Amino acid sequence: MDARQLARALTKAEHSCKGRGVRLTRLRRRVLELILQAGQPVGAYALLAQLDDKRTPTTVYRAIDFLLEQKFIHRIESLNAFTGCPDVDHPHDSQFVICTDCGSTEELHDDAIAETLRRHGRTLGFQIDRQVVELRGLCRACRAAAAE
Ligand SMILES: [Zn+2]
Ligand SMILES: [Zn+2]
Repeated sequence: MDARQLARALTKAEHSCKGRGVRLTRLRRRVLELILQAGQPVGAYALLAQLDDKRTPTTVYRAIDFLLEQKFIHRIESLNAFTGCPDVDHPHDSQFVICTDCGSTEELHDDAIAETLRRHGRTLGFQIDRQVVELRGLCRACRAAAAE
């Protein structure tokens, strides 16, 4: 994400918060900025280390929880890390493709996949609230590097 996309994503997040009557505090905004800047999933302790003023893990986790609730970021379960969502306006089920080598992550929004999984859940008597779809493989750059 370049500087312009980053600024746009932060402005969008601010507008969403205003519209929802919640506060994007300085810490929440900074944590969101760090996650968006990272370009790949980043863990809570890595975020903590990057904050200028001293914060406790609890305050960072609270900021992360807020950002997850507002759907500004997603949790990558298999990495226990967080990634920015380029589409902060619109809540969605996502699928993730994660490079096993460099950790770079792409987000997919395939509603057909999400609906298929929900339908399978219903058939089994479940109402599905949350989906974790994380695909693993080598990204293009890592495949090119491996082929050299
Ligand atoms: Zn997303
Ligand atoms: Zn890679």
